[in-house]
Amino acid sequence: MKKTLLLIASTTILFSCSNTEKKSETTTTFSDPIIEHIDSSVSPKEDFFKFANNAWFKQHAIPASEANNGLWKTIQDTLNDNIRRICESAAADTKAGKGSNKQKIGDFYFSGMDTVSIDKAGYTPLKEEFSKIDAIKNTTDLLAEVAYLETMGVETMYDFSISKDDKNSEQYVVTLHQVGLGLPEKDYYFNTDARTSSIRAEYVKHIQAMFQLIGDDEKTAAKKADNIMKLETTIAKSSRKMEDLRDPYKNYNKMSVAQVNKLTPSIKWEETLKMLGLNAPVDSIVVGQPEFYTALETNLKKTSVDDWKTYLKWSVLTRYASQLSKDIYKEDFNFYSTVMSGVKVQKPRWKKIVTATDRSLGDLVGQIYVEEYCPKGTKEKLAEIGNSIRNVYAEHIKALDWMSDVTKEKALRKLNTINMKVGYPDKWKDLSSIEISRDSYCRNVMNIRKWQYNYMLNKYGKPVDHTEWDMEPQTYNAYYDPTNNEIVVPACNIIVPGFEGRMPDDAILYGIIGGSTFGHEITHGFDDQGSLYDEKGNLRDWWTKEDRSKFVAKTKRIVRQFNNYVVLDSLHLKGANTQGENIADLGGVIMGLEAFKKTKQGQSNEKIDGYKPEQRYFLAYAYAWMVQSTDAALAKQVMSNVHAPPAFRVLGPLSNMEEFYKAFDVKPGDKMYREDSVRVKIW
Ligand SMILES: [Zn+2]
Repeated sequence: MKKTLLLIASTTILFSCSNTEKKSETTTTFSDPIIEHIDSSVSPKEDFFKFANNAWFKQHAIPASEANNGLWKTIQDTLNDNIRRICESAAADTKAGKGSNKQKIGDFYFSGMDTVSIDKAGYTPLKEEFSKIDAIKNTTDLLAEVAYLETMGVETMYDFSISKDDKNSEQYVVTLHQVGLGLPEKDYYFNTDARTSSIRAEYVKHIQAMFQLIGDDEKTAAKKADNIMKLETTIAKSSRKMEDLRDPYKNYNKMSVAQVNKLTPSIKWEETLKMLGLNAPVDSIVVGQPEFYTALETNLKKTSVDDWKTYLKWSVLTRYASQLSKDIYKEDFNFYSTVMSGVKVQKPRWKKIVTATDRSLGDLVGQIYVEEYCPKGTKEKLAEIGNSIRNVYAEHIKALDWMSDVTKEKALRKLNTINMKVGYPDKWKDLSSIEISRDSYCRNVMNIRKWQYNYMLNKYGKPVDHTEWDMEPQTYNAYYDPTNNEIVVPACNIIVPGFEGRMPDDAILYGIIGGSTFGHEITHGFDDQGSLYDEKGNLRDWWTKEDRSKFVAKTKRIVRQFNNYVVLDSLHLKGANTQGENIADLGGVIMGLEAFKKTKQGQSNEKIDGYKPEQRYFLAYAYAWMVQSTDAALAKQVMSNVHAPPAFRVLGPLSNMEEFYKAFDVKPGDKMYREDSVRVKIW
């Protein structure tokens, strides 16, 4: 259960920590991005996000090859340049030992760039799977193929995985969740507004086009597309909405295998688990959404084997479309990037393959990234900021006026137990058994997905590995994992744009890395979901009833605030979906400010470029979210993402903060002002 954040970004190399920071303090005049991005035609009291960032937006239109622009893209460009160098130098080294990290990175990248071979192959890499699907004669064959596809990363009827047991975090457990939709969320199948209706129509056209590309005539392909849409709509009907997936208790239903068999009499789970490669004895399964599985049984009976076969083929084709020839990839891009996200043209090939290499072989790329691009002292600097936030957090918890001492004590214990993983892992994943060659890009991706599946499978029955990382050092993101009570902040989060080769002032460090990264992630441990897990990562109620109800009343206020924001024409934000992130943002910016106030700059009154320390802090916080998106991407985000669009991640939290009012002289009647009765502060 990952809670991604996604913050900031930069241009080239970041500031350098400890060892090297002093040498760059020469007479060079640096520009100050915080000030340069201000649009003084907008009042900070009306729209602080625009005030802080709009000058940059005015100068930088969203490129045709992107769904958004701003700090994330800028920083990703830097990372892409680094990773490209890693990939190209590995690909140029044809003497790298077989099986070595370099050989894998180099050959994977080479195979992805080899468009001549990829185009020549067309969809050949999938033909073997297609013939197996063609040969299916009955439900038994069908279910065997469904299980096999799962092992190559194609999920169709069910989402099987090995995860940490929410109620016993020292143990792995088999889980089954809802799955099977080609559109991002249930609402896409039923909402009747023009935007969503048009996406549905385009989706059917897209499926048809894909079948024509693998040899069907127009009529046959159209029929298949209709049938798939019908089947997916039935699946969507039995799926929970995003907001109904938030309650970990309601999505935790531990059952014996016999009980799961009762949900789906057509699927014998003892046999199925063996087909899935799990040979160890399994006594229970955590079923996320039991009604989904009851509906699957009905679907299995109602839908003809032929229609299921079409659906399976579609699932394989769409899953591997970006590894196939350019006609197929172009069609996939047209729907998933252009229609869904408003991206007009494809990125250069190298960018696509750099991303693919990074995602597929992240731990191998990461080892080189750390060696070659991570400034010395990164880990120490991140840990220092993280610890200062944790200290402030403890003071805040102790001083809360709404929480009883007994709950406070447990909250403090949880806070102090949070394992902060920063920079990069001590131990890298062993990817040595993955077979990578220059022959087939698609085959390479299949091999990697099978490896990933087996990596997951092998965890079953073993003790939980608390040292594992789910992100790489070169991933511009961070997460809190409630079942481990840990936060993970990868090394590249140290990057602050516009501060290459020098140390940013503390207002910037604490606004960006302190507030929107560490403060945000720590607060996830105390948001609507995280707060339900104890210090050991177990789903267990540690609150008094009274404290819990006070907490819930506060979170409801945040939900209401965000429900009121209109993102695009009539599209409102979904307060319930985004509450965890919004709680985390609010906690983050409050803690970041408190930690900043303890620094020398925070305690001074010294202006930099005309702005006082606290003003710079809030400007830096807004800088962390300097991102603008296409309308299509915004709509998609609102419908299917737990994060509110960046503008609201600034407007929302700051409009609840007295300190912000003070810093920018916000008064009743200003847009950034909220009456005391609707304001909220939780942590
Ligand atoms: Zn988050």
